[in-house]
Amino acid sequence: MSESFDLVILGGGCAGLSLSMALAERDSDCPRTLVIEARSEYSNDRTWCFWSDAAAPGRYPVQHRWQTMRVTRAADSVSLDCGSTPYQMVSAEDFYSAARASIDRQPNITLRLGTTVVGEPRHNGTVWRITTNSGAVVARSVVDTRPPKLPRHGEATLWQSFYGKEIECSSATFDPLSLDLMDFLEPDPRHVPFVYVLPVTATRALVEVTVFGALPLAPSDLSAQLDAAISKRVRGVSYTTLRSEHGILPMGLTGAPEPVHHSYARVGVMAGSARPSTGYAFQRIQRWADECAKALAASGQPIGHRRDPAPLHLMDQIFLDVLRAEPRRGADIFFSLFSRADPARIIRFLSGKAGVADSLAVMAAMPVKPFATAALAMTQRLGSARGTQTAA
Ligand SMILES: Cc1cc2nc3c(=O)[nH]c(=O)nc-3n(C[C@H](O)[C@H](O)[C@H](O)COP(=O)(O)OP(=O)(O)OC[C@H]3O[C@@H](n4cnc5c(N)ncnc54)[C@H](O)[C@@H]3O)c2cc1C
Repeated sequence: MSESFDLVILGGGCAGLSLSMALAERDSDCPRTLVIEARSEYSNDRTWCFWSDAAAPGRYPVQHRWQTMRVTRAADSVSLDCGSTPYQMVSAEDFYSAARASIDRQPNITLRLGTTVVGEPRHNGTVWRITTNSGAVVARSVVDTRPPKLPRHGEATLWQSFYGKEIECSSATFDPLSLDLMDFLEPDPRHVPFVYVLPVTATRALVEVTVFGALPLAPSDLSAQLDAAISKRVRGVSYTTLRSEHGILPMGLTGAPEPVHHSYARVGVMAGSARPSTGYAFQRIQRWADECAKALAASGQPIGHRRDPAPLHLMDQIFLDVLRAEPRRGADIFFSLFSRADPARIIRFLSGKAGVADSLAVMAAMPVKPFATAALAMTQRLGSARGTQTAA
C-alpha cells in the first residue's frame, strides 16, 4: 500500500521549505506533510536579497545588511539611504540549514531528498497519487513548486537573466557598507544590461551581470561581460572565485497558471511568485507560505500566490512594455526614477508594497513620453480585447 499524507509538497527549494517552516510552527496543527526534493543534498547555490524592516526577525539568519545603495549611469551616480528598510542578504546555505532544523523538530513533516516526482499527480476523486522514482505516495492536498525545465518564449513580457561570481580578493577592494544596485553598461538595442555588486567584506563580493530583455540568456551569453565587470572592479588585485550563480526570472507573466483543483496549488516563479517589474520573489514566497499554512490549518486546502491589485499590475505592465519597446532608454528610465523619487517610495514600489501615493510618486519620476505612449497602446489593446469579447 502507498504511504499516505495530508499534504505532499513537490520540490523542497525556497517555496517548499518556506511552507514547511511555516507549517512546522503550527505544532500539533501541522498536517502530516511529505516534502519531495530531487536534490540529494543542498549547496550554497544562490543568495536571496530584499529590502526588509530592520526589526522584523526572519526564520533564517541574515548574512549581511546594507544601509546605502548606489545607482550609476555612465559618469552619473546617485547614493540612496535605505537604512529604515536595509537591503538584506540571506545565503541559500543558511536558509536550507534553518529549514532543515525546523523540519527536524516537527515530527509531522518528512523531507525526502534524492527523490524525483515523475509525471503529473493524478486525482481519483478523493486523494492525489504522486509517482516518484522510488515508489508512489498519496495525499489529500498537493503544493507543486516544480519549476519548468526551461523558460518558454512568450511566457513573460521580459526575462531577467543574470550570471554572477562570488570572489575573494587578496587585498581590500570593496566597501561592504554600500552595494551597487544597478551600474548600467553601454545601452544595447536588445536588452537593458547592468552590473550588480554585493560586497560582504572588504575582500569578498558577489558581482553579477544582469539583463532585462525579451529573450532569456544563458551564462555563456553573459560571461564576457561578467569577466569585464570583475576586472574593472578588482583593478589588478588577484582573486579567487568561490562560487557562481545563474538565474532566469520572468518579468510579467503573460498568462495566469491554470487552476488544477481546489486541493492542488501551483506556486513558484512561473506561477506568480516573482514581482513583475523586478523579478524579486523571496519575500512574496515568505508571505505566501504564511498564508498557505494558515489556509491549510483552516480548511485543509492549499492556496497559490495572490494576484497583484489591478492598479499595481497595470503600472508594472506599462513599465515592462516601455523597457521592452525601448531597451536603449532603460538606464535613463531607472536613473531618473532613483534620482528623482523618495527612496522609501521606490523601495515600497520595487517590493510590491506601494500604496497609491507611492505609485503616483514613482510615475511622476519617470520620463513622460515613453510611458504615455505605452499607456495609450495598453488602453487601445484593452479596448480592442473588450470589443472582441462583446462581439463574441
Ligand atoms: C541564482 C538565483 C538568485 C536569486 N536571487 C534572488 C534574490 O536575490 N531575491 C529574490 O527575491 N529572488 C531571487 N531569486 C528568485 C527566487 O527567489 C528563487 O528562484 C527561488 O529559489 C524560487 O523558489 P522556488 O521554490 O519557486 O524554486 P526553487 O528554489 O528552484 O525550488 C524548486 C525545487 O524543486 C525541485 N524539483 C524540481 N523538479 C523536481 C521533481 N520533478 N521532483 C522533485 N523535486 C523537484 C528542485 O530541485 C528545487 O529544489 C533568485 C533566483 C535564482 C535562480
